Amino acid sequence: MKLLQRGKAKSVYASGDGTVTIEFRDDITAGNGAKHDVLKGKGSLLNAINEIFFKELSSHAVPNHYFESISENSFKARKVDIIPLEIVVRNYSAGSFCKRYGIETGKKIGPIVEFFIKNDALNDPLVCKDVVVKLNVSTIETLNKAEKLALKVNNVISEFSENHGLILADFKIEVGFHDGELLVSDEITPDTCRFWDVKTHESLDKDVYRQSVGDPLIAYKEVLRRLSS
Ligand code: UDP
Repeated sequence: MKLLQRGKAKSVYASGDGTVTIEFRDDITAGNGAKHDVLKGKGSLLNAINEIFFKELSSHAVPNHYFESISENSFKARKVDIIPLEIVVRNYSAGSFCKRYGIETGKKIGPIVEFFIKNDALNDPLVCKDVVVKLNVSTIETLNKAEKLALKVNNVISEFSENHGLILADFKIEVGFHDGELLVSDEITPDTCRFWDVKTHESLDKDVYRQSVGDPLIAYKEVLRRLSS
C-alpha cells in the first residue's frame, strides 16, 4: 500500500480501492513531538478503543469516515479532504484551557467548542470562526456544521463513556469532506480525549504520559476494559 502520510502516531495508506487504511503505530508523543516513546501494544489498544467509539457514532447516525477494523492495529476509512483544524469540545476544565485562563482543573464548563488551526510551527493557535474564514481555512457554513457535528459527537460519546464509568472531560476531533458530506474523521481514543474515572477523576488518558505520572498502557487497557464491559 502506498504511504500517504506519516503522522506522529498514525500512518495513512491508500488502500487501492479509493479508501484509506489508517494504522495506529506504537508511538506516543507529547508537547508537539518534544517527548516521544514507543509503547509496545499501544497501537492495537487504540485501534480497539477507536472502533468502539466510531461504531457508537454510526449507531447514532453521526456521519463519519469509519468502515471497519482490518488488523490488530489498523482500520479502513473513507478518504476525506481534511479541514486543517482541531475541533476541541470541553465539558470540564483541563489542559491548555486551565493554563490560558488561569482556571483550576475539573470545573464543569461545557460543552464549549474551540477551534485550533493545525500548524505545528505555530503550535496550533486557538482561533475564532472569523479568523478561520479570513485565513481561507474554511467557510462559516462549514464551521457551523462542524460545530454542530462536534456537539453531537460529544452527546454520543460522553453518554457512552459515563455509562462505562468514565467522564469525558474534553476531546479533539477532525472533520473532512467526502462527496460533499462533512464526516467525523481521524481518531477518537485516549490520545485525543481526556477520560477521568467517574468517582476519583483519576486520568486514564494521555495526560498520564504528558505528566509522567504512570504507565499509559495500564490506563489505556483500563479504558478498553471499561468500554468493553
Ligand atoms: N488534543 C489532541 N491533539 C492536540 C491537542 C489537543 O488530541 O494536538 C486533545 C487533548 O488530548 C485533549 C483536548 O484535545 O483531550 C484538549 O487539549 P488542550 O487544548 O487542553 O491541549 P493540551 O493540554 O493537550 O496541550
